[in-house]
Amino acid sequence: CGIVGYVGHRPALDVVLAGLRRLEYRGYDSAGVALPHEGGLAVERKAGALVNLETRLDEVGRDTFTGTAGIGHTRWATHGPPTDRNAHPHRSGVIDGGKTAVVHNGIIENYLPLRAELEAQDIWAESDTDSEIAAHLVALAYAGRAADPSTKGDLTASVRSVALRLEGAFTLVVTHADEPDTIVAARRSSPLVLGLGEGETFLASDVAAFIEFTRDAVELGQDQVVTITRDGYDVTDFRGETVAVSPFEVTWDL
Ligand code: GLU
Repeated sequence: CGIVGYVGHRPALDVVLAGLRRLEYRGYDSAGVALPHEGGLAVERKAGALVNLETRLDEVGRDTFTGTAGIGHTRWATHGPPTDRNAHPHRSGVIDGGKTAVVHNGIIENYLPLRAELEAQDIWAESDTDSEIAAHLVALAYAGRAADPSTKGDLTASVRSVALRLEGAFTLVVTHADEPDTIVAARRSSPLVLGLGEGETFLASDVAAFIEFTRDAVELGQDQVVTITRDGYDVTDFRGETVAVSPFEVTWDL
């Protein structure tokens, strides 16, 4: 339901949690975060209010959540009950040991045939969601194990190849342990905006998530993919063609 991503110089956990808090008005039933940390990903997710996630982070200790990049999600369950294991981010334990984390807004209409295709390769779902298949598909593409192996080691190309296979409405946001300073997102029929700061870049389902930090924004169009780093962004369509974007300034207040 709500999505926040950040690459910059601030503690990403604070930015992401503050952003999710700003998106609370949309309603949600679970929340989660993923931050690259020392070659892996630090991930927590929890059913219920955002405070449950924060309490959980206090319990486990926030020592691995100190990075300056990360993603977060508040879920409004459509497929699978609002439980811890259905909360986003989703990962692929079997393909890459959980190095790829994906959050998703919307509904992947063709998740059942895609899930059957994964199961035929002994890749079994760990949740009841439609979203989880996206984590496995991106991990397979990044590992060079998809039908087209050319996406190996290229997170943007991997996300594009997966977006082309999905039907329905989605904003997908992906972080990968091997590319800790990059976040890749794709959208179709579901909102995604970028926030452009000095040495920091934000993405979110709504500008409200980041306007306390920057008012320079870019709205992604239909069927587009964006790669953000702390120095900027690159937008293409699902086939990799560069597309024109129109930056704007957010003039309203919270
Ligand atoms: N369909 C997904 C799920 O049920 C995402 C829902 C959302 O947009 O939060 O997990």
